[in-house]
Amino acid sequence: MSGQATSQGRGRRVLLVEDEEAVRMTLRYNLAAQGYVVSEASSGPEGLALARSRTPDLVVLDLMLPELSGEDVCRAIRQESDVPILMLTARAAESDKVVGLGLGADDYMTKPFGVKEFMARVAALLRRAERAPQPEPQAQRVQVGNFTADAESRLVLVDQREVKMSPREFSLLFFLVTHHGRVHSRDALLRAVWGPDFHGDSKTVAVHIRWLREKFEAFPSLPFRINTVFGVGYRLDLAPGVPLQR
Ligand code: CA
Repeated sequence: MSGQATSQGRGRRVLLVEDEEAVRMTLRYNLAAQGYVVSEASSGPEGLALARSRTPDLVVLDLMLPELSGEDVCRAIRQESDVPILMLTARAAESDKVVGLGLGADDYMTKPFGVKEFMARVAALLRRAERAPQPEPQAQRVQVGNFTADAESRLVLVDQREVKMSPREFSLLFFLVTHHGRVHSRDALLRAVWGPDFHGDSKTVAVHIRWLREKFEAFPSLPFRINTVFGVGYRLDLAPGVPLQR
């Protein structure tokens, strides 16, 4: 039993990017005590790498960081993801400046701040993100070389031959194709394809990936591959020179 003390975080992943060790340790301690799963970085490049590989549910990002500033990290994350970002700044004047720059952070806190307020902001940002409507699928029909997938009819064709799949297999395939070239963790795929209310095991994703691969074994001319990125997740790579058409 997790009990009330650990209920708030419910295993949601928070990435802490902060070079001040004392601040990082305090925040990590309090987040972990509430049931959040915390990963940490003490520099900008490290933070950006973890934001990509761990697909956190929330990023806490210090503004003043070595090597790559929080400003640059924020911009880079925003180009790839809608993950909520809570920025930490050393002075109120900095927060104002950062807001003015429109970096795309969702909230700002000025140091020093109380842990209670920090935890409340984290919880509020996650609640807001979970309530936000899921983006509409960007394409109804995609084509890559001899492969076609139609979201309305749920029809998959390779070389004009139908490849039968379950609705879930189709959704997973469609997501991977329309987000090709990017690594997706099992948890991220679970959320994107099975939905935030599904609380099953992320092994489900591995099983469905295996089924998809098996279905496509009969089609050596398939213009993409679903690759396993060891320790991270999966990435669908298009064959070189074969563009995706929507
Ligand atoms: Ca700093």
